[in-house]
Amino acid sequence: MKNSEKNEILNTIWDSATKQLKNLLNEETYAQWIIPVLPVSYDGKKFILGVSDEFFLSWLQDNFGEIIANAVSKAAGKKTILNFEIGHTHPEEKAPPEKPVKKAAKSKAAKKRAPKNCHNRHTFNNFVVGPENEFAVAAAKSILKTDGPSPANPLFIYGGTGLGKTHLLQAVAHEAAEKNPDAVIEYLSCEEFLNLYLESLNTKMHARFRNRFRKADYLLIDDIHFIAKKTSLQEEFFNTFNNLYNADKKILLTSDRRPSEINHLEDRLVSRFDSGLTVDIQPLGVETRMAILQKKQEEHLIKIDNNILFFIADKITSNVRRLEGALTRLLTFLSLKGGKLTIDDTERILAPMLEDEISTLLTVETIQKTVADHFDLKVADLTGNKRPRNIAVPRMMAMYFSRKMTDKSLPEIGSCFGKNHATVLHAVKEMDKRQKVDNTIKHTLSLLERQLQNV
Ligand code: ADP
Ligand code: MG
Repeated sequence: MKNSEKNEILNTIWDSATKQLKNLLNEETYAQWIIPVLPVSYDGKKFILGVSDEFFLSWLQDNFGEIIANAVSKAAGKKTILNFEIGHTHPEEKAPPEKPVKKAAKSKAAKKRAPKNCHNRHTFNNFVVGPENEFAVAAAKSILKTDGPSPANPLFIYGGTGLGKTHLLQAVAHEAAEKNPDAVIEYLSCEEFLNLYLESLNTKMHARFRNRFRKADYLLIDDIHFIAKKTSLQEEFFNTFNNLYNADKKILLTSDRRPSEINHLEDRLVSRFDSGLTVDIQPLGVETRMAILQKKQEEHLIKIDNNILFFIADKITSNVRRLEGALTRLLTFLSLKGGKLTIDDTERILAPMLEDEISTLLTVETIQKTVADHFDLKVADLTGNKRPRNIAVPRMMAMYFSRKMTDKSLPEIGSCFGKNHATVLHAVKEMDKRQKVDNTIKHTLSLLERQLQNV
């Protein structure tokens, strides 16, 4: 087949697929996520689409991957494998004729382009605020308000996986860029920061690396705990940090744990990280999870009833990424079959995801092991009959989490510890009480809770 024929087939399939997608997605979502995608090749089995970069790709795949794959298969008339390639930028002249981009609007849009490495969608507008994250959001916003010293600087945000730390950090980058288009904003993951640092050593471009980060008005580093054990990077970061801090530049860091809990992090860095404001994002409650689903579904034309959304919010508790995945799955199903969803349909469609959630439910044994490891004890110490002081508190903590994080009854938990239900009940009450008045207990419980959420 000639190349021109191949191209024609490619374009015809993509045209037909995009028509279907236009009927499924709202105008804004379609313009933001489908228009920039380019058809690259089709060999009769595999259809390749081109996108600009990794960030775009991961969002597109997570959220619209299944919908696009179905639309392409339907357009091609047979099951087609969909692959993506990065590095393809949509030429502007190919913008759809019905939506011409005016010159003035274009320059404004150019200014509004996402800061490097940041996702367009990760803005404050798209971030749902609930009691679990409101303090973190307020702190992030407060940093943007002042140009000079701020009590919230540096801001250290920590919390479990999928709770919105990256989203929030990138929202700050967007807002900072919007507020001052000339601001130098460095947003990057700790891993990227490390790679750049290592590269700079290899290529003897160290001065350039150093200058780059010391010029920043905003230094935003995601997942800073990866700096643990990297002694020379810690040294470098310490100096950069001091430079920026002394010049009242803004420093925001995220992590899965608080600074003092990052093992192998130099004390002087712990105290620098803690010198501003340290805030956490708690696991999201069902109301916030529901609000996120409602917000996310606004992107789609297909509507799902609130009782179904509530079913998802209630069942999928572990992290927002999974919540979004479940919604996408249902939307894909509806886009193919039409009609209305019942709870039974929902349960069937989401079965693999719901099973995953259940299998992520903890066992008492895992809790005992995690708590014992934390205190350098053996599981047998927690389940045995000894009652020295150093064992009493860890044992109560293990019982407390067994009650909070598993669906076991008090007597069942009791028997895992060789105790009766009254001892477990006492432990739960005691921990509830003590964490209100004893900060050490409170912090240990919250550290263990985060560890348990990630096992
Ligand atoms: P983390 O960095 O804490 O692991 P992310 O920021 O990557 O989590 O969030 C995972 C996904 O969940 C992202 O798609 C993000 O946009 C979404 N998300 C998390 N929290 C919220 C929220 N409060 N409102 C809206 N979306 C959220
Ligand atoms: Mg993250």
